[in-house]
Amino acid sequence: MPTVPKATRDLVKSRAKHRCEYCRIPEAEFVAAVGFQVEHVTPRKILRARGLQLFDPKYLAFSCPRCNSFKGTQTHGTDPQSRLQCPLYDPRSQRWHHEFLPMPSGHILGKTPVGRTTKDALKLNTLADVLLNRARLHACQKWP
Ligand SMILES: [Zn+2]
Repeated sequence: MPTVPKATRDLVKSRAKHRCEYCRIPEAEFVAAVGFQVEHVTPRKILRARGLQLFDPKYLAFSCPRCNSFKGTQTHGTDPQSRLQCPLYDPRSQRWHHEFLPMPSGHILGKTPVGRTTKDALKLNTLADVLLNRARLHACQKWP
């Protein structure tokens, strides 16, 4: 599988201000064996089928490995409120603060069907995440 060219990766990372574009955690605070990744918002398979450029930055997002792993090749999920199919959050065409509401508790709420669906699909409110987000809010305001 071809990899993202370094210049493109640097651009995507810089554009995201070195944060996961889904859960908004800073790359510098993420400690894991696997680093942050450049993620295809639109899965490679769909880009190929449409004859689109795989590494065009407009199809890419900067993601922590956890969000990327939960998202996988999904483009849609189920809105937990309406139970209807709904697209996942697209960092290239939507604004995080329009779709999500960060709570003082450290939880991320979905403000819209897209936000609710993405929050559930990417499991944005695991206990560890909530506790770390709360600590970030109270310590340094580096989140979201
Ligand atoms: Zn993330």
